[in-house]
Amino acid sequence: MISIEHVSRRFGDGPDAVVALDDVSIEVAKGQIFGVVGQSGAGKSTLLRTVNALERPDSGRVLVNGTDVTALEGKALLKERHRIGMVFQHFNLVGNRSVAQNVEFALEAVGTPKKDRRPKALEMLDLVGLAHRADDRPGQLSGGQRQRVGIARALASQPDVLLSDEATSALDPETTRSILELIQRLSRELGLTVLLITHEMEVVKRICDAAALMEHGRIIEQGSLDELIRTPGSKVAAELFPVGEAHYIPGHRVIDITYTALSADRPVIAQLVRDFGLEVSILGAALETINGHQAGRTRLAVPGDASVGLKVIDALTAQGVTAWEVHP
Ligand code: ADP
Repeated sequence: MISIEHVSRRFGDGPDAVVALDDVSIEVAKGQIFGVVGQSGAGKSTLLRTVNALERPDSGRVLVNGTDVTALEGKALLKERHRIGMVFQHFNLVGNRSVAQNVEFALEAVGTPKKDRRPKALEMLDLVGLAHRADDRPGQLSGGQRQRVGIARALASQPDVLLSDEATSALDPETTRSILELIQRLSRELGLTVLLITHEMEVVKRICDAAALMEHGRIIEQGSLDELIRTPGSKVAAELFPVGEAHYIPGHRVIDITYTALSADRPVIAQLVRDFGLEVSILGAALETINGHQAGRTRLAVPGDASVGLKVIDALTAQGVTAWEVHP
């Protein structure tokens, strides 16, 4: 659905040049929610702007539903943009117009006849649970409600693709959750393909089917969340499963065992440790559900070297659990 192929973009020349995108390739399948995660300055916004054809790459191309958006100009470009909805961090609503009028602007832009705009806007607002606030001004709404309007506006032109630029970064954790749930529900119900950028791993964990980690304009790792959490040494996996601060036990070293399995949880590890007579203390455990799959990490203190950790991994593997050691 979205195919980003070897995209590079540099700003400036000479020694001061910034390579914002360095040979970035990403495939997002239809209906998938794909997260690009990275620190500020990693190149995420430049990537999103390139997909939305607001930015031209120096090399490479971006196909959206088979159309090369990097080669479009004029009316063809505008038409293509209407098939792409965009949600912004700071909502970008027009303050002195009503909620419904904000959505109507998007309908006007795609040529919806005037008489159809209000009913259609109300329909979109209903989709995000805000039809009853249609005649309020954005300033009368909470941040979460404003973002719901932003989403209604983004979906008004019935796009196939939704781009989200840090849509929840300005919201508190509870509101963040409800907005993410809304995006996930709409993606499932409407078959929307979603590409979102975020600096928060939490966002990836809550709704993404697949993700890419970006650093200094490059994709460091990417894949489905299932693949990533099964990849030894994956930075995404390591950030998805933080465990509490370890207690220091003299003469021991601390290791983390990460495992993925539907049945594995802390008692399973504790049982294995007992069964195999391993001299291990369990310091902490975190179990997470990622899109219905359970994965967890247990932090262990092992005496001497890490070979005991390998025995735990062997024991888990024998139980059909995918497990690996993460050095803290
Ligand atoms: P992110 O969204 O991950 O914070 P950006 O894509 O905004 O990263 O920026 C990536 C790098 O490119 C940064 O070093 C930024 O300063 C630089 N950059 C982005 N846009 C421009 C621009 N229009 N002119 C010059 N440098 C830019």
